[in-house]
Formats: sequence, C-alpha cells, structure tokens
Amino acid sequence: MKLHMQMLIAIGLGLKRNWHIFLGLILGIFTGVWLHSNPNPLITNILYFVGQLFIRFIQMVVIPLVISAIVIGITSIGDSKQLSKLGIKMIGYYTFLTVVSVALGTGLALTFKPGLGAASYINMDTAMSIQSQVSASIEAHRDNFLNMVLNVIPHNPLSAIVSGDMVPIIVFAVIFALALAKVGEINRPFVSFFESIFAATMKITDWIMILAAPGVFALTAVSVSAFGVDIFMTISKYLGVLTLGFAIQLFVIYPIFLRIFSKVPVLMLYAAIAEAMMVAFGTASSSATLPLTIACCEKRGISHKVTSFVIPLGATLNMDGTALLQVVAVMFLAQAYGVTLTIPLILQIGVLAIIASSTSAGIPGAGLITIALVLNGIGLNPDQLVAGFAFLFTIERITDMMRTLVNVTSDAVVAATIADNENEINYDLLNNPDEYNEVIE
Ligand code: ASP
Repeated sequence: MKLHMQMLIAIGLGLKRNWHIFLGLILGIFTGVWLHSNPNPLITNILYFVGQLFIRFIQMVVIPLVISAIVIGITSIGDSKQLSKLGIKMIGYYTFLTVVSVALGTGLALTFKPGLGAASYINMDTAMSIQSQVSASIEAHRDNFLNMVLNVIPHNPLSAIVSGDMVPIIVFAVIFALALAKVGEINRPFVSFFESIFAATMKITDWIMILAAPGVFALTAVSVSAFGVDIFMTISKYLGVLTLGFAIQLFVIYPIFLRIFSKVPVLMLYAAIAEAMMVAFGTASSSATLPLTIACCEKRGISHKVTSFVIPLGATLNMDGTALLQVVAVMFLAQAYGVTLTIPLILQIGVLAIIASSTSAGIPGAGLITIALVLNGIGLNPDQLVAGFAFLFTIERITDMMRTLVNVTSDAVVAATIADNENEINYDLLNNPDEYNEVIE
C-alpha cells in the first residue's frame, strides 16, 4: 500500500475513539458550503457562539499551561549541559525544517508560477473594501525588524501575561526557569507550585475536549461559509500550489525527517496526534491547540521532560506551514506584478520568511500580518502592495487552517525526534494504539 494511504489510515486509527472530531470537521465543511449559498444569520450566530465557546475555554488554559510547562521542563532537565544539548538540538531541528519549508515553497512557486496572469483578479472589489485595515498593517510593519526583536523582551512580564503576548511570555518563562534550575534545591516550593498548576491545566484540557467535536464543527462551518467553494475556482492555482506544498510537508518531508533522525514510526505518531491536528485545522491557532498537542504526545509515550520544553516553544517559534505560505504568497504577488525574481531577491524572500514566520504568534492570521516584513522589500509600488496584501486577506482563513495543521504537526515531529534521541519515548505505548489512553478521560 502506498505510504500516504497508510498514513491516512493511521490518522483514522487514532480517531477510533475520537472519530467524532473528524466527523465534526467533515460535517462542518458541508454545513459551511450549504450556509454560503443559503445564508442564515441565526444559524451562523449559534455556530459562532459554539466555536468561540470552545476556543475561549481552551485559550483560558494556554498561558498558565505554557509557563508551568516551561518551568517544569527546564528545571526537570536541571543539568545545564543536558539542557544546552537539548536546546541546541531543538533549535537545530526547528531551523532545519523551516529552511526546508522555505526551499520547498520557493521550488513550487518557481515551478508552477501561480501568479502569472493573476493581476487581473487581485484587484477584486472585496479586496479593495478592506484596504484601510491592510494599509495600517503594512505601515505598522515597515522597516520594523529591530523593533520586533526588542518587543520579544517584555519590559513587564505581568503586562505581557495580561495581554497574552506569547513570545515575550515565553522569553520570560525560559529565562526564569533557567535561573530556577541554577539556584538548586531552594527552587522546590516554586517548582511544586508550577507542577500543581500544570496538572490542573491538563485536567481542565481533558474536560474542554468534550467540546472539541462541536467546537471544530462550528468553527469549520463558520469559516467555510465565509468563503464558500467558488473561491477555489478563481484562485485554484495559488491554492493548489499551497495545498500541494502542505501535503508534501506532511507526507514526504516529515516522514523522511523522522526516518533520518529517529526511529519514530510516522504512522503511529500521526495516529497519536490526530486530534491535535484536527483541532489545529478547526481553530487555526497553534497556541489554542497547544494543551492538546502536549496531551496527545504525553499520553502516548513522549516524556513530559521533552514535551513540556519543546512543544510550547515550537507552538510559538516553529512555523513551517506559515513559512511556506509566506514564500509562495510573496512570489505569487511578485509574479502577478511582473517583478523579476533574481537569485538575491529569492534569497532575501527566503531569509525574511524564516524570520517573519518564527516571529508570528500562534494565533489566527498572525502569519499574514508578519508577511508585511517579507513583502515590503520586493519592489512593488504602494498600490500594488496594498491590493496584493488585501487579496491575501480575502483567502486568509482557509490557508490559515491548513498551515496551522502543518505547524502543529511539525512541533510534534521535532518533540518525538528529540525524545527518541534522548531515550525519552515509550515505544510500547506509541506503537500500540490499543494501549492509548483516551485524551478525554
Ligand atoms: N495561525 C498560525 C498558527 O497559529 C499562525 C499563522 O497565522 O500563520 O500556527
């Protein structure tokens, strides 16, 4: 049987006891298509409410979960040699996969040239209607790279926590945890405090998962109802190239990566994280999916030491799907407006996409805000820039759902690889789906 078929079956296996989320997703797509042609504000409002209920509950636990996971993860590794080995490996793997994604996006955009002839439909009326919002976003990110670097260091950690800025929160949590690890035994009361927080937030995640199927159903239906299926006809080439890219990441790059760097069987890993993958698709948010990604990995054999450190950082910093989208989207606009893609320009786009994707927060639409950083330097005039950016906005949600699924999968792939390298994985549990504990208990 072809490998990709086996993978699809593996995803199905993981769903045995949780097939309802999958059904929710499929039903959500059909309901959305139906709603698009039969608009019904009452149904849309109810669906919106159910979707938001799920997202809000799950977002509610993200910040305590991230901080406690990082503190426990780093202090449990303790020994600074092992910690730096793990940290370097994590950054190495994450960077490697992002570079591969950028190369893949470049190759696909240059091969299929999705932007040729696209200028005619970029100036769509719908795109024009959101131009002021778009201009503000472009302005806010113009030549702002140094500011972006400064902004990752919180001048007040509590205000970063209150406003939910994930990157500064993580920077603070990592530094704080490193210090706790250094001070030795005196850290016990504090670490116990975070262990209690972590255990409680994981319990809440179990409870929230009861809402996952209706939540994913409602979120998908509302998103699909906004763009319908006609959008696929107009811009099928652009969406086709993106979908192909995401599929190659999932079904070719990650399996090869796992094969080269670990003994982790990709089928079993995908079965284990199937729920997280679907919730990522439904919510379009790596951060909101984070509690579930951690739960799936831990309950299916990847040690707490590794997941609690690698996954929260990945959910914020490792964005392979976003990097691929940014490269393809920027090259699409360059091709549409006749900008010659010279080798230095292609390299510039690639490097900026690596930076822009990793500074994107794990929330819906973040990757399209930071894309301004990549778009600014390619030589489009201000009108083209605004129209092009606005065009990307109109088809944002569907691409966001797909790229978030890739982002979350990549985090789990790296966590599993590091766990394998460090002997921190229980293969009996991972390879035996019958042993899986339900994420919903
Ligand atoms: N929504 C993506 C995520 O949460 C980020 C993006 O907008 O690309 O992973």
